[in-house]
Amino acid sequence: MYTVPKLEDFSPASLDKAASELREALENEARSALDPKAFEEFRNRWMARKNGLLTQVNDMWLKAAPGPAKRDVGQLVNALKKAAEVLVSDAEQLASSSGLAAKLKSETIDISLPGIERTLGVRHPVLRTLDELISVFVKMGYSIAEGPEVESDYYNFEALNFPPNHPARDTQDTLFIANQERHPQRDRLLLRTHTSPVQIRTMESQRPPVRVICPGKVHRNDAPDATHSPGFHQLEGLCVDTNITFGDLKGTLDHAMKSLFGSAVKTSFRPSFFPFTEPSVEVSISCPFCGGKGCRPCKQSGWIELLGAGMVDPNVFGFVNYDPKKLSGFAFGMGVERLTMMSYNVDDIQQFFYGDMRFLEQFA
Ligand SMILES: [Zn+2]
Repeated sequence: MYTVPKLEDFSPASLDKAASELREALENEARSALDPKAFEEFRNRWMARKNGLLTQVNDMWLKAAPGPAKRDVGQLVNALKKAAEVLVSDAEQLASSSGLAAKLKSETIDISLPGIERTLGVRHPVLRTLDELISVFVKMGYSIAEGPEVESDYYNFEALNFPPNHPARDTQDTLFIANQERHPQRDRLLLRTHTSPVQIRTMESQRPPVRVICPGKVHRNDAPDATHSPGFHQLEGLCVDTNITFGDLKGTLDHAMKSLFGSAVKTSFRPSFFPFTEPSVEVSISCPFCGGKGCRPCKQSGWIELLGAGMVDPNVFGFVNYDPKKLSGFAFGMGVERLTMMSYNVDDIQQFFYGDMRFLEQFA
């Protein structure tokens, strides 16, 4: 390590030699002060006012110089101080930038490492079934209609040809909004019990021909159990035009069921009753799991009841100013949860609403 020598000889040659040794040491040390800490040590060693190397040069060379040499020594010391300042400033820049380089190096992100995987959600099984249903009917030219979940008695019952005292209107079956007693019955609000009000709203706002499907959430005053839920989903459809016959209803539903369950599936139509259709039918499909031989999903019968349907009752047309003498149509409806339970062999409808990841992950 360089130390400032005591000068005996103040001749120009001796001074040059001492100065160049000092400069060499200064430059070497400046070059190796590569980070902020090393630079700090370097600067203190050379520049400290008290006992720094340049202060020592001042004391040991200039102050000790004999009178005749003082001028030359003074110039030399000044030149060394200026050179030292430049080197210190350069070293400072180098140290701070190499400090930055070191910092960058230590904080480098390896972009070739695998990232943090965020699990993407998937469609809920009920919505997946609903999407499949929708796409079958959209391909047949149906468009999608939606309506409010809070409905009036008029749209949910009256315009659908329910008589005033029909049991469906009872609070045991229907969830009414509270404190509606002062309103006339037709204006009372309730949670819609089917998506059929959307059919009425569509016919009110649109002249025939009408081909719509109405998917959505509906509500019944049912205690939750393995096959009942106070909220579930329906998909209904409505087709109105001139010369629509029961044959169109059969053909449409038969085609839809074959699209959903495969071309081997058969449909069967059995008389039934709904206030808004006449005639009304229950539609069953041959069991897609056992091909009709009998299994658990079809309760060994070979058939699964899936839809309610029928020709639109002329009285319903009366409510929407459609002329029942010129127009005819059919409507159908099905429960989406029921279909999903059957498709995925789920034996408890409540599973769809718990939000239990162990159940839902099976559909991912
Ligand atoms: Zn079966």
